[in-house]
Formats: sequence, C-alpha cells, structure tokens
Amino acid sequence: MQEVADLKVRIGLEVHCQLTSLKSKLFCGCSADYRQSEPNTHICPVCMGLPGTLPVVNRRAVEDAVLAALALNMEVSSRTLFYRKNYFYPDMPKNFQISQYDRAGGIPIAKNGYIKLDGGKIVRITRLQLEEDPGKLSYEGTIETSRVALVDYNRAGVALIEIVTEPDMNSPREARVFLQKLRSILEHLGISSGELEGSMRCDANISIESGTRVEIKNISSFKEAERALNFEITRQRNLLRKGMRIGRETRHWDETRRITISLRVKEEEEDYRYFPEPDLVPIVITSEQIENRKSAMPELPDRHKERLMAQYGIPLQNAEVLTENKALAEFFEECARKYNRPDLLSNWLVGDLLSYLYEMGLELRETKITPENVISMLKLIDCGTISGKIAKDVLKEMLLTGKSAEEIVEEKSMKRIADEEYLKQLTEKIFASNPGAVRDALRMEKAVRFLVGQLMKETCGKADPQLANIVIKERLKRLRDEESR
Ligand code: ZN
Ligand code: MN
Repeated sequence: MQEVADLKVRIGLEVHCQLTSLKSKLFCGCSADYRQSEPNTHICPVCMGLPGTLPVVNRRAVEDAVLAALALNMEVSSRTLFYRKNYFYPDMPKNFQISQYDRAGGIPIAKNGYIKLDGGKIVRITRLQLEEDPGKLSYEGTIETSRVALVDYNRAGVALIEIVTEPDMNSPREARVFLQKLRSILEHLGISSGELEGSMRCDANISIESGTRVEIKNISSFKEAERALNFEITRQRNLLRKGMRIGRETRHWDETRRITISLRVKEEEEDYRYFPEPDLVPIVITSEQIENRKSAMPELPDRHKERLMAQYGIPLQNAEVLTENKALAEFFEECARKYNRPDLLSNWLVGDLLSYLYEMGLELRETKITPENVISMLKLIDCGTISGKIAKDVLKEMLLTGKSAEEIVEEKSMKRIADEEYLKQLTEKIFASNPGAVRDALRMEKAVRFLVGQLMKETCGKADPQLANIVIKERLKRLRDEESR
C-alpha cells in the first residue's frame, strides 16, 4: 500500500475579493467604505431587501469585473445574468444573495482563464462572477461557544468578485503563492486592496488522492489560508493512516484555535433553489466595452517585474518578491529614485523589512516607515555611522515609530563612530588619497585640521570630533617616527 504521506494533494480555491475602489455598494447607493463606521449605519431599504425596492447594478462594478477577467486571461461573456441564491443565515437580510448561477449551465461574467505563477506553474481559473457581500456576524469568543451573534449589515451588498479555480494546486504553499499572485494582480489593476481587513477571503476544497472533497469555509485572509490547509491535510492524513474514511463535509476554520471544525454536511445544489433574479435585466457586454477595458489595462505584476529588473538592475528573485506586493514595489521605486544603490535597497526591503512585517503581522501601510527614513538608514550605513547589524534594529524601530534613522541612532546612542578602530581604518584611506595634505600636516596645524575635516566628512559628520582629532594626530606621529628612523 502507498504511504499516506506520498498521496497527492489537490487544492481548489474559491476566492472572494471586494471591489474596494467602488464608492457605493453593488445594487444601491450606500457607501461601500464601511470599515470605520458604527454598525448598521450604511444601510438602506434596497440592501436590507425591504418589499417594493429594486436593485440597480453599479456600472463600475461590471467594468472592474471585466478588467479583472481580462487580466486573468479569461473569456468574457457577451451576456450575463444575475441569480438569486436562497439560503437563510442571519448575516443575510434578504434571505437570498444576488449572485450568478455558479454551476454548469450558468453564465458568469467570465470563464476559462488562468494565472501563471512565478516558476511557470499554471493554475486554471474556472469562472469569475459578481455578487454581493453578506453582512458580518461577530461572536463572543468562538462560533461554538458564543451565547450571542451580533450582526452588522454595513457590509451587506458590497460588491464582490468571486474567482473559482480548478483543483490545480498541490500544496498549501502553492495555494499561498497563487493567492499572493492574485492579490498582486488585483492590486495592480487598482480594483481591490488586500491591505484592508477582510477584503480578500477564501474557501478551499481539498482532497487527498482522488478521495472525498472537504471544503473549508471562513478563511478570513489570504495569510490564514496556508495555515488552514496545512491543518486540514494533517487531519485527513491521520484519518487515512488509521484506515478511516474521509466524509464529504464543510468545515469551518477557527482562526483563534487554528483548527478546522465540522460545520455541516455539504449542501447540494438544489438546497439553494437558484433562479434568475427577476428584478434585474441581463447585462450585455459588447466587444467595444471589452476593447475599452483592454486599453485601460495597467502594468501587471509580470511586466512590472521585468521593468524593475531592467530599470534598476535588481536580481530576479528580488523583483519577484517586490511585485508580489504592489505597495512594497511602489515603496521600492520611491526609494530608488533618491538612492543610487537599488540592489542594496532591494535586499533590505525583501529581506529584513518583509520579515519584520511578517513577524509583526502588519501590512506595509500599517507601519509608520517612509521612503525617506529607509534612505536615511542606508546613508548612515554607507557613511559607516552604523553597522549593518545595528541598522537592522534601526529599521525595526523605524517601522514602529516612524522616526528617522538619525533620531533613533542619536537616542539609543547606537553610533559606531565612537569606535576608534573604525576611525583608524578610515584614516588610512584618507592618508592614502591625500598625500600632499599629509606632507603639509607634518609641519602645519592648518593641514592637520583639513585631515580631521576629511575624517568627519567620511563619517557624514557623525564622528566624535575630539576622537577624530586624536586619531589623526596619532597617525601623523607614527608617520613622523617612521620617517625619523
Ligand atoms: Zn443600501
Ligand atoms: Mn460566493
């Protein structure tokens, strides 16, 4: 019998991304910018589904969905329909979600596309559809133990695109790489920002070697996806090792406890009683509109990556990591305009900066760091004011406080300029490149001051002037001793 650990894993994803650049919801005029608002303040009779109201499709949402479809190499439908997906859940005021028919025979906005991952792997995309977000439930503690569920409908009706893949990913890591790439594409398009809390969520289906498919719901961020999948694979493998069968079911990812728990046996299609939404006419997408969107296509991650390599001469790997995160790539370019060692700069950003962000669980935007601060830190290293090792601490502090590198170095007395050895090394360099001044300095105090000045300049003025004076004079004395011998 084949080892359980060798059995092939297949993962498919169903991703929901809010169209965060839209001002209003998908079918009403309520503001879609709900995150900082009091609960249930961004609602109206339409998104609450009150009798007698009629939805109107947000034109920009359709345009954004078409743009996304084109960027994902998909076939855009010339005519598409909304459907009602009926189910009862407290986060859904209407008791149905306006969505698109998501089974064979349905006509979503687009189908049959793919994303090519760095490294060449192709992940096929089955379809892309538009639908509305439900509201948001919050629990006391966990979903299992909470006595109450509070509901906030501000999110209900916000426009989502749902993107469904074929089960083409073979490891949780690959799923993470796919999600990163997808996020980067949508961010490059400017239609969805993964930095906003809850703006990109996914469900996953996972099976081990043609076994039963298990779905995992409620993965609240792309970051959680790899973790949830790893847990689920281990759970399934353990069952298989014990000779047990894996049942078809839907499981819930409990972010706090980091486990999946059984939620329900999978609904069948008829449970949703799909039917065409009678209050909305079919949407016709003309080839002219598609051409129009094509010409509005901005630079996508692959092209961006190529450009970073060509324009700044940075290595492929750095360019890949930078363009995975549009905000980081833009940050890099802003720094690179004012700093002439882009290779070094890119190493700091994809290395230390990213690992700190990961450690702190923060997005770049959530930190206080600025391009000016990073440049000031690099210049301090160039001047030898601080070592690379100290710079790591400075960088971390800059992320947290937004202070400039100089300020931090000053406050924490991190200067390495008190380091006599280092000043001596610099003095050797200065003596070698200023032989005339050195000769003069053996006789004239004025030339000594010039050499001290050079040493101060080499350290960008950070050396202790007294120590600089002593180091130069000692060096001159040694020279005099050597000559008189
Ligand atoms: Zn509304
Ligand atoms: Mn959906």
